[in-house]
Amino acid sequence: MADTPSDPTFPAAGSPPIRITKPLLPDLQDLVHGLQDVWDAEWLTNNGSQAQRLEVLVREYLDVPHLSLFNNGTIALLIGLQSLGLEGEVITTPFTFPATTHVLNWNRLSPVFCDIEPESLTIDAGQIEAHITERTSAILGVHVFGNPCRLTEIDRIADRHGLAVVYDAAHAFGTTVDGRGIGTFGDLSMFSFHATKLFHTAEGGALTFRDPSLKPRVDLLRNFGIKSESEVILPGINGKMNEIQAVLGQLVLTMVDSERQARGAVRDRYRRNLADVPGLRMLEPSEPVSNSEQYLVIQVDEEEFGVPCGQVYSALRSRGVLARRYFAPLISDVPCYSQLPSAAPELLPVAHNAASSVLTLPFYGTLPPATVDAICTIVRDSRAGVPHR
Ligand SMILES: *Cc1c(COP(=O)(O)O)cnc(C)c1O
Repeated sequence: MADTPSDPTFPAAGSPPIRITKPLLPDLQDLVHGLQDVWDAEWLTNNGSQAQRLEVLVREYLDVPHLSLFNNGTIALLIGLQSLGLEGEVITTPFTFPATTHVLNWNRLSPVFCDIEPESLTIDAGQIEAHITERTSAILGVHVFGNPCRLTEIDRIADRHGLAVVYDAAHAFGTTVDGRGIGTFGDLSMFSFHATKLFHTAEGGALTFRDPSLKPRVDLLRNFGIKSESEVILPGINGKMNEIQAVLGQLVLTMVDSERQARGAVRDRYRRNLADVPGLRMLEPSEPVSNSEQYLVIQVDEEEFGVPCGQVYSALRSRGVLARRYFAPLISDVPCYSQLPSAAPELLPVAHNAASSVLTLPFYGTLPPATVDAICTIVRDSRAGVPHR
């Protein structure tokens, strides 16, 4: 592959740019067929039969005991944190999508940023205890790019200090650890079913939780806290998944396994193409963790590779390949959080290095092998002029 000549016409003139993902789209006739049931029932939302059916299917797929569906992942996490009755400070990662931190803020919880581990890019369990104060009530980890946090270590820390453990599992749909569903770890986990996620309902999400008594509470919070026609017992919000989302979800769920298989082949091709490039590494979990196949992520070691990650990004962009820099800027650097003492860049060196060196590349089952090769050629050629060692 090293000798593949760059194709100056890639992607062909006038062709659309190559996005980092494409949503799974079921056959339109199948969707129409499913919607016919909704039309017949004349029932569009409020825990209808389609949402109830999808709730069971997703619970079984994720292999978790308790699950509730939501209109999106952010509201799910917002409600999940609310349901635990947390106060004070929550120790979390700065290397994440803004929603993770924003839902703390919306719950009047103060984020306390903890640096991440250089290999997995998840919260550094070894540094969590140093951030614990008498105000700490929980740890909020993110299984970033499908890499699980240090689950047992975090559980042990939480037990020792009486803290709740919450996971943003938006990147980890279907991930298993030693054959166990990732949603069974911690007190609760959030999954996102946004269109850019592997399994999606256009917009949507779910919470999974350990304590069965949380389900009625969470379900009340997702429906304004309305218990009966005459009783409102909690300050709830509107987090309900509607029937159209639920029909779409049932169809998309049947496509997930074959998409994951197809993405596995695409990932293999990327790996073969990039394996021998000094200063590049592909971020992927290994045994006993199954790959969620949601993202294709590389990390560029500027010193060894020869040019910074930003240059690889620009080279791809200029050729119509819409790589993304997840997650830059760090959420600890945006104005609403940058004044927090724990947001000081010198306290988060690994996260800052990740933000400036990690790149997400196009990744979906129908991505043609030749396109993967061409993308990898652009990546390799972006270090043109750097002498080979
Ligand atoms: C997608 C995502 C969310 C938000 O989920 P929505 O369903 O879009 O609200 C939260 N956290 C992470 C890490 C995500 O990738």
